[in-house]
Amino acid sequence: MDEPSLAARIRVVLVGTQHPGNIGSAARAMKTMGLSRLALVAPERYPHADADALAAGAGDVLAAATLHADLAAAVADCTLVLGCTARSRRVPLPEHGPREAAAMALDEAAGGGEVALVFGRERTGLENDELQLCHAAVHIPANPDYSSLNLAAAVQVLAWELRSAMLGRAPAAQVEPRDPPASHAQLEGLFAQLAETLDAIDFHKGRAPESAMRKLRRLFLRSRLDAREVRLLRGVLADAQRMARLAGGGEHP
Ligand code: SAH
Repeated sequence: MDEPSLAARIRVVLVGTQHPGNIGSAARAMKTMGLSRLALVAPERYPHADADALAAGAGDVLAAATLHADLAAAVADCTLVLGCTARSRRVPLPEHGPREAAAMALDEAAGGGEVALVFGRERTGLENDELQLCHAAVHIPANPDYSSLNLAAAVQVLAWELRSAMLGRAPAAQVEPRDPPASHAQLEGLFAQLAETLDAIDFHKGRAPESAMRKLRRLFLRSRLDAREVRLLRGVLADAQRMARLAGGGEHP
């Protein structure tokens, strides 16, 4: 797959951006590196003259940006969601450096997947429930005493790593085609049914369900299920739910 078609499968998602100038600078950072798909999740002030001013020649990237109410909506069709975080190892997710993340993103795009690189708010970054939607975290190993880059600067580092990896990509490095990977929405459907099933089989026995669900989410996100595997697991869960109903019916005739 050539460079523009790989880039077309990779989007930058900015969540809850506070300064509109950063949205413009991020668009410029993207365009200089050959990326054009920008998704904005609930920006605080947008559209805004500062965004246009700082985008400079990347006004087309801004004009084509999509707006979303929440992160789940912005990544619903994605098969790989990478959450960029200024704070290292604070999240229970596999963590990668920017170079490794760029290689993962390109492999995914070359295999026909859709990739999101997600960036958080200037003041508070990404919230925990937003990180839970991600397959992995990306941390730029900056100065440990001051590791928080400006939002658009962080976009620039990731966009450069993607470009550098695209330019260095030998045709032989293309990955084997595989079954279509599960989309984010398909995985969320699986997680919802899993939560219902755990309740139905009384798995939690009075314990709070959140901790088990967090670990199970992590396990399934890490294993990169394809769409067929999600259907298989949902079939297993449907049978478990049916058996639980039968067993429940037996107790209370
Ligand atoms: N005070 C916030 C910093 C947010 S900086 C915090 O502690 O989380 C805004 C965004 O830029 C972050 O959410 C992240 O997506 C990105 N970013 C900044 N520095 C980064 C770093 N060292 N590695 C990866 N992403 C970073």
